[in-house]
Order: sequence, then C-alpha cells, then structure tokens
Amino acid sequence: MVRLTFYGGIMEIGGNKVLLEDDKGKLFLDFGYPYSRYRNFYEEYLKPRPGAGLLDLLAMKLLPPLEGIYRDDLETQDLWQQFRQAERYRRLGGIDGVLLSHAHLDHSGHIAFLKEDIPIYSTATTALIAKAIQDSGKVDFDQQVSYFNPTSQEYPTGWKQIAHIASNTAKQQRHFCIADIKPEVLSPDAEEFWRQGFWEKTPKQKELISHPLEEHTRCNFNLRCFPVDHSIPGACAWGIETSSGWVIYSGDLRLHGKRGKFTEAFINEAAKLHPKALILEGTNVDKRTNVAEQEVYESGYRAIDGSQGLVIADFSARDVDRLLTFLQIARDTKRKLAILPKDAYLLKTMRLLEPEIPDIAQEDALVIYQETTASRSPVSWLRKIFEDYSSKIVLAKDVASNQGDFILCFSFFDLNELPSIRPEPESLYVYSSSEPHTEEQEMDFWRLHHWLKHFKMRGFGLPVEKNGEWEIPEKEKGLHASGHASGPDLLKIAREISPRVLIPLHCEKPEFYVDNLSVSGIEVILPIEGLTTEI
Ligand SMILES: [Zn+2]
Repeated sequence: MVRLTFYGGIMEIGGNKVLLEDDKGKLFLDFGYPYSRYRNFYEEYLKPRPGAGLLDLLAMKLLPPLEGIYRDDLETQDLWQQFRQAERYRRLGGIDGVLLSHAHLDHSGHIAFLKEDIPIYSTATTALIAKAIQDSGKVDFDQQVSYFNPTSQEYPTGWKQIAHIASNTAKQQRHFCIADIKPEVLSPDAEEFWRQGFWEKTPKQKELISHPLEEHTRCNFNLRCFPVDHSIPGACAWGIETSSGWVIYSGDLRLHGKRGKFTEAFINEAAKLHPKALILEGTNVDKRTNVAEQEVYESGYRAIDGSQGLVIADFSARDVDRLLTFLQIARDTKRKLAILPKDAYLLKTMRLLEPEIPDIAQEDALVIYQETTASRSPVSWLRKIFEDYSSKIVLAKDVASNQGDFILCFSFFDLNELPSIRPEPESLYVYSSSEPHTEEQEMDFWRLHHWLKHFKMRGFGLPVEKNGEWEIPEKEKGLHASGHASGPDLLKIAREISPRVLIPLHCEKPEFYVDNLSVSGIEVILPIEGLTTEI
C-alpha cells in the first residue's frame, strides 16, 4: 500500500506539498509556497517574522505541523510543545527527498524550511533557475530554495527576547540531485560562466557551503522524470514506482506551448507504465480553449507595429518562451528589447543548458536597461553583467531620447523608473501575463491605470474595471497564453494516461474531474487536507 497525504494544493492554486510513503521510503512531491493562504494574513509590509523562525508559519497554518522535517536552527525553544496537540500533528523523520516539478515558488518556496540534508530531485534547468532567482533577487527567508543563511538563537544586544538572527557563518546550499542531463554537458561558451563559480558561490562571491550537483541515484525508489511544457523551462512530471504500482505526479503542464511535444511524450510514456494513480493539476479546468504562443506573437506584433513612442511589455521573464516571442516582435518592428539585469542573469543561466537561448552579446535586438538608482558598488553578479555586456547597456536618457527604438521589459514594480524616461504621449503599455490575475493585483492595476493616465500612455491587454470586475477586453485577450492546459486538454491527458485512480491537485474546482471522468472507468479521489489516502 502506498500512502499519500496532501498538505497543500487542495482547493487552491499552488502550495503543493504531497507526502508519499511506501515500504521503500518517504518522498515529498513539491514543497511549495502557498500564495493564497499567505494573502489571507500577510502582504508586502506584513510578513512572517524571520526572527520567530518556524513559529509564525506553524501558528498561522502555513506549514504543516510535522516535527522532524524542518531545519533545527529555525526551532524556537519549546516550539513543538506548543504544536503537539495541533490537528494533523505528526512526528515524521527519514524523508528521502523532494521531487521538485519546476522552479515556480508555489511549488518550491517552502523547501527553504526543510532540513538541509533532505535532497531535492529536479531537472538541471530547475536547479540552475532556482539559484539564479535567489542570486539576483531579494528573497525572504521563507523562499530561499537554493541556499540559506543558518540562524542562531541569541539575545541580540539590549534585547531580552530570544530571536533567530542570521549568523555570520557561510550560507548553506541544498543538495540537488539531477534527473536529466549531467551538468558537465555545458555549451562551450557557457563553460566559463560555470567555471567562474556560478554554482559554488553566492552572488557576492562569498563562501557557500556548496554541494556539487549529484545524479539522482541516491533514492531507493525507481523514479522517472518526464520533461513537460509549462511557462518556465525545466518543468517535469514524475513517476514513482511504489509497492502498489506507478504513481504519476504531473506538476504544472500544458499541451499548447512551444514545447508541447514534451507533454505529448510524457503522456505516452506514462500510459505505458499503466499507473495506479495520477496526481493531476487542474488550474484551468474552466477554460475551454487555449491561446497559443504564436497568437501572442501576432497580437503583440499588431499592437506594437506602427505605434508611436515607447513600448513597455509586461510579462514574466522567467517565461523564456514569452521573452523570445517579444524578442521576435522587437526584431520585426525594428526595435530593441531592453531587459533588466536580473533577466539578463537568468537568460545567461538558462543558456548554460539550453544553447538555443540567445547569447545577449551576439543578439543585436537585445539590450540591458540599467536602473537609474544603481548602487555605488553593485553586488558581484550585477557588476559582472555590466562588465560582460558593457556595450549593451542603455540608460534612462538613451531610452528617453529615442523612445520609438525600444520595447522595455518592465513589470508593474518597475514603473518608478518612468519619471526618468518620461514616456511620450501615446506610448504603449502591453500586458502579457500567462496567468489570471489575483484580487491583490487588482489594486496594482488600479494604480497602473493612474500611471498610464499620468503619462498619457495607452494600455493593451490590461484588465479594466467594469461594474467592480476587472477584465481584459475581449479583443485584447490574445496576449495571454497560459502555462496550464485547458479543461479539454486535461481530460485528454487523464484519459490517455488512463490511471486506475486520479487525484486532482492545484485546482479550485476538482469536481470537474468527477463530472467528466465518471464514465471512463477512472476513479477520482478528491483529497482532503492533511488526511491520508491509501492506494
Ligand atoms: Zn507553475
């Protein structure tokens, strides 16, 4: 009997945490950051206290009360005495690893809390992206996936309360075990970047207690890693051979993206295993159709071609396919795509394993926008970007004086650069998100509309308010290709893999599967938070 316990991702999008237990061992399938639960209690200026270690997260039920899986250095005195009576409390040791599906934080973020000796199984691309994201961003203590600062419990000077303070000891890297290509197989021009210590050093070139990327042979389970298509490179689904048969975990996937063939191959391979169970995502069960990336190109091209003044394109640079789409639009509209240094760092990292990703130095249509308030002594990774691509740097004044030459890759949070650029009237803001917006973002849209009005800019693809609802105008929907399969595609995946049991996850409407698969002979089990299902 294999036992599955679901600690996150139930009736919510993201925060997946599934415990799989068998005679052979124990694995977690993802260990994600539950955005929607955080939003109930926290926002940008109200966050769990790093000084309180695990306490806030356990008390607010953002982490399951599982004694024995979390980092010792985050335990406050008598922590577990407070939670041993908690619902779903359990002592749990001997976790063999986390099978990580991809580098989106709603699947990976809470790895930050796990004991440092629990290995993370992933694709090489996922391991590298997780590091690049942490290197180049401000990452809170509850999202430090790649490495972390061990804390110590001390009385800070003048303080009577025990707190967790980040010690000055070296940062500690997690053990990543790689399921696909060996990291040594690097493209020749990427090798130098690797040799300079991308993996072994912090972005400040400081010491990191580093662990070389290992192969995924440590595990007792027979594992299969299937590359799939999603809105970030390196995504995979997993197969785990258990005493009850194969259990397949889809992670997040789609069939309609540029790498849809990966997902097709996954379906074929998984079907051949005649799996006992399929844990399948269901983000877009409600969607009848998909927008393809080619449609994003066409809509974006139509909006940008012939437009006057500056163009700002708002999309996630981690979605490298979207970045390539806008790069092509830039080429075809005789503009240059200006990306932020952190996006340049991410591209450079992805190129370590995917040589088809453009080399910034060689790509005429790609430049790097240096933010106006850069620090006097930028951290090493940033300085390296500015040095390596010195001929590619553009400043606000360059953009301001030739606005028709650029597509700026900005998000809402980069709007504060605009006073230095002063977009000309009729400049264009193109919104091309992969995912539906949240309530929290609606406030941002409200503010964004004020910014656009202030600079007399036009918006395209942006949600607008109508009777209290924020919706993207029908004519402008072609810019929003999702990272997730539509309802009909999800049913195709389920029927073709044809498991005995299907368990929906990462889904707000799991009844969709019950309603649509009842005649197919696939039993649908709706998981309940914290309860164990035996298969
Ligand atoms: Zn995802």
